[in-house]
Amino acid sequence: PNRISDVVTRMAEERPTGLALTEPGRAWTFGDLARIVGDTAQALGRLGVRPGDRILIVSENSLALAALLFAASKLDAWAVVASPRLSGREVDQIGTHSGARRAFYVIGIGQQAAEHARRNGAVVEALPGLGQVAVGPLDAEAVPEPVHAAAEEQVAVLLYTSGTTGNPKGVMLTHRNLLFSAFVSGSLRSIGPADCIYGVLPMSHIVGLTIILVSSIMFGALVRVVPQYDPADLAAAIAEDTTIIYGVPATYQRLLEYKAVKGLPKLAAGKLRCMFVAGAPLDLTLKARVEEELGQPLLNGYGITECSPGVSSVQSAYREDDTVGTIIPGVETRVVDRSGRTVASGEVGELHVRGPNVMRGYYRAPEATAAAIDADGWFKTGDLARFAGEDMYIVGRSKELIIRSGFNVYPPEVEAVLSSHPDVVQSAVIGRAVEGNEEVVGYVQLLPGSKLSSADLLAFVRPLLTPYKRPAEIVILDVLPASSTGKILKHKLAEAARTT
Ligand code: ATP
Repeated sequence: PNRISDVVTRMAEERPTGLALTEPGRAWTFGDLARIVGDTAQALGRLGVRPGDRILIVSENSLALAALLFAASKLDAWAVVASPRLSGREVDQIGTHSGARRAFYVIGIGQQAAEHARRNGAVVEALPGLGQVAVGPLDAEAVPEPVHAAAEEQVAVLLYTSGTTGNPKGVMLTHRNLLFSAFVSGSLRSIGPADCIYGVLPMSHIVGLTIILVSSIMFGALVRVVPQYDPADLAAAIAEDTTIIYGVPATYQRLLEYKAVKGLPKLAAGKLRCMFVAGAPLDLTLKARVEEELGQPLLNGYGITECSPGVSSVQSAYREDDTVGTIIPGVETRVVDRSGRTVASGEVGELHVRGPNVMRGYYRAPEATAAAIDADGWFKTGDLARFAGEDMYIVGRSKELIIRSGFNVYPPEVEAVLSSHPDVVQSAVIGRAVEGNEEVVGYVQLLPGSKLSSADLLAFVRPLLTPYKRPAEIVILDVLPASSTGKILKHKLAEAARTT
């Protein structure tokens, strides 16, 4: 295949009547999907979308999102996929920065997409097979990007990173990037027509898009498209026919909380064969509880939007620690110190990645692109990693490293200690500047009804952390601010604390 839409065409030839995607109230076979993608591509053409144009798709996970994405691919247009849960300012910033020719708001799931549509004067149109989609006015000024002679080198999607560090950037990913990551992911996990994949991670985010949507179609598996996370639905899907779950730690965390609050018996895991987690540091207490509950290993993996996203993953073998596994085939990595020299084996340094998974660059940001990818093609992840043999460990993000009186404090280590308290649901640790130094500040969310005080927690961590790693303050919040994927938005923590 040269384009992501080719995987749809190919699977429609191989398994026309096989079930491809379901959502509440709708089910498409691979044959349906290919036909609807074709009709949608024609509709987009009629709506003035040209090769090289960017189209903005604002949607919760939906079949319509999938059809619009693959239709854009057929036309050599770039799909800019955004979560409706972003604020009006954020969605509009993405629309403006990407120079989108048209915007498509998939309405009818929650209120937010409809609100974005209204704000931007979008009009509801009936798109064949998709139902009602609000279509934003044509931007006649939008200039198409040059189209690559080689289809696989054309940009397929432009994804704005969720911005857990506060600077959203448009990541340009080519068809080759996505096809490579989707292929490796599906091959390593032996995905096939017998699989039913629980598609709850947002398709406006790289894992939901490549690893769930594109990869499943490529390997002929069924995706149960889930518009909004609901632990009761996940528990039911696990008991029914789900074979594979992809989640972030919060996906599993909230499932266990739901079970505890409802006082449910052990969750039945009918056909479940794999559980994967990525996107944020994996708390070992959570890992142990999930494995105990569902009777399968929770397999950790490391990815980043700029690497579309796959870099490493734990294969089927059970692991007790929080390794993110081995580097996926076809990808090179190195670990370097601040001066750019490769560190001795086992030492911590910044992880660099090179390979067919690395993005084209940041859209309309040549300086940021040059700072991120060097002349030899190495992408600087901004994550601090170390290797033990072939196994990689992520110890933190270089930009989130706290330097306390000259000592390095890696927030995930302190977070793991905080989260090991039975009353702590989630925790996040950041640095705070104080008189030429930095101090450690912890934020926690407690189990509903917990009476724990921040003094109790400070006393709890005292014997578990060496003095320079101990938080100077622990702030208790009702909920930690999170992105649409469930990742904690660290740059919003101090703000959330002020308004509580
Ligand atoms: P931004 O880059 O703007 O901060 P983001 O954090 O949401 O946004 P993503 O590409 O979604 O960007 O997430 C990638 C980051 O998630 C990695 O750089 C890494 O810090 C973290 N991450 C991903 N997988 C793991 C993992 N298994 N363990 C620890 N951290 C992980």
